Amino acid sequence: MAKPGGFLEYPRVDPRNRPVPVRLGDFREIPLPPDREELVRQASRCLDCGIPFCHGLGCPLANRVPDFNEMVYRGQWERGLRLLHSTNNFPEFTGRVCPAPCETACTLEPDFGPVVIRQIELELIERGWREGWVRDFPPTRSSGKRVAVIGSGPAGLAAAQELARRGHEVIVFERDGKAGGLLRYGIPDFKLEKWIIDRRLDQLRREGVNFETGVEAGIDLSARYLRRSFSAVLVAVGSRRPRELDLPGRDLEGVVLAMDYLSSENRLQGGEKSGREGVLDADGKPVVVLGGGDTGSDCVGTALRQGAAAVTQVEILPRPPETREASNPWPGPPRTLRTSSSQEEGCERLWAVSARELAGKAGRVEKVKAVRLDWMGSSGPREVPGSEFEIPARLVVIAAGFTGPESGRLADELNLDRNGGGGFTAAGPGIFSAGDCVRGASLVVNAIDEGRRAAAEIDAFLMG
Ligand SMILES: Cc1cc2nc3c(=O)[nH]c(=O)nc-3n(C[C@H](O)[C@H](O)[C@H](O)COP(=O)(O)OP(=O)(O)OC[C@H]3O[C@@H](n4cnc5c(N)ncnc54)[C@H](O)[C@@H]3O)c2cc1C
Ligand code: SF4
Repeated sequence: MAKPGGFLEYPRVDPRNRPVPVRLGDFREIPLPPDREELVRQASRCLDCGIPFCHGLGCPLANRVPDFNEMVYRGQWERGLRLLHSTNNFPEFTGRVCPAPCETACTLEPDFGPVVIRQIELELIERGWREGWVRDFPPTRSSGKRVAVIGSGPAGLAAAQELARRGHEVIVFERDGKAGGLLRYGIPDFKLEKWIIDRRLDQLRREGVNFETGVEAGIDLSARYLRRSFSAVLVAVGSRRPRELDLPGRDLEGVVLAMDYLSSENRLQGGEKSGREGVLDADGKPVVVLGGGDTGSDCVGTALRQGAAAVTQVEILPRPPETREASNPWPGPPRTLRTSSSQEEGCERLWAVSARELAGKAGRVEKVKAVRLDWMGSSGPREVPGSEFEIPARLVVIAAGFTGPESGRLADELNLDRNGGGGFTAAGPGIFSAGDCVRGASLVVNAIDEGRRAAAEIDAFLMG
């Protein structure tokens, strides 16, 4: 145990964020660097539980949380980082964007506030980069096998790194201009700056991973070529088919899909565009985001930074409770109200509201016509009579989720089967799949986990 009674001596101290007016002035990351002494005190709160729910239930990667907490408390940072890297290829991504299911599963969560596990993870890896503890592991011998990884999101990247380290020749094919998947084109810079992705990609290249960007498998590469030229193929193409809202006025100018909106700003921030021309811009406009989830929140933060006049986020579901209900006890994932940093920055959130129509003039959107819903009945939501209202909007962003991988020639040509949720399953010897394209839109931590598992399966397939 780090420090007996540490959790009684020190309360949880949340990571510090930059003040709202400052952070709205740029697209830089929100949190301030942690105070290292405070972080050591925070690590000392860990109980080293007999059954560590953080590790066994919370973390999909089974990060060895109590062990690295103790190492941080004892000043063994480099050893802690080695342990962290043994289960997680990219702690700098999860340390920034993971919703930290390890923390909501932590034994201290119900009464004392969980250990700040994500913050400890982030400082372990960032200190590691600064101090030169992040080592490259180029393979010492070649297996003579070639593996194609289709898609360079966190699933494809984790698999590629694991396979290259095992001595296989890995080529990652990516249809976008740069590698990173949703890390680069979905998640905004204020959560994850692009140079952090580039720093890790450089390491993968030094370890022997080859990237071919601007190449769409199924269009630029046939399945026949892939089968003939590679001993194994990993399909990690994500789950980007957007859920559309079939509303009157959907085709008005100023109504856009969340990924189009986010990727347009992300390309500018990532240096793929030189000026704001052509960027979907909220500057000076009232903005309505349809969808109360995480993607919607990222659109809120982006609109506020672009200088939106006002931002309203509309969610069809009722407002969740502030605290866990009896039917939702610890250590399960909490079904409680979450407020993202973007929502804190000044958006109005509407719950149990359904958009009915998008209305405008001269082909341009001007307002969202909406109605309030009553969710109390047993037969599903009911529109509340007389509750119709309008929200001014010159930009409407549809953030209603994703329905599965984009079907394309690749899926047909590789004979990829569909699982019950609409995702792909592996099809036949030598063809593997991982990440959001299997499980549906999910989390970075799950994608890394699936990439690692797929790499182990591919290695076993190739080497026996
Ligand atoms: C806006 C947004 C914000 C998010 N924020 C968070 C967050 O804060 N925390 C979190 O944990 N998760 C977040 N997520 C979810 C997370 O980003 C995904 O779960 C994760 O990126 C999935 O990884 P993946 O590798 O399976 O797929 P992706 O990241 O989608 O990568 C798939 C890649 O495959 C490429 N591709 C597709 N088809 C082809 C083809 N035929 N040929 C070549 N390449 C192809 C795509 O271009 C893409 O680069 C967010 C998602 C979105 C949309
Ligand atoms: S559940 Fe919390 S207190 Fe227990 S070992 Fe994990 S981090 Fe430490």
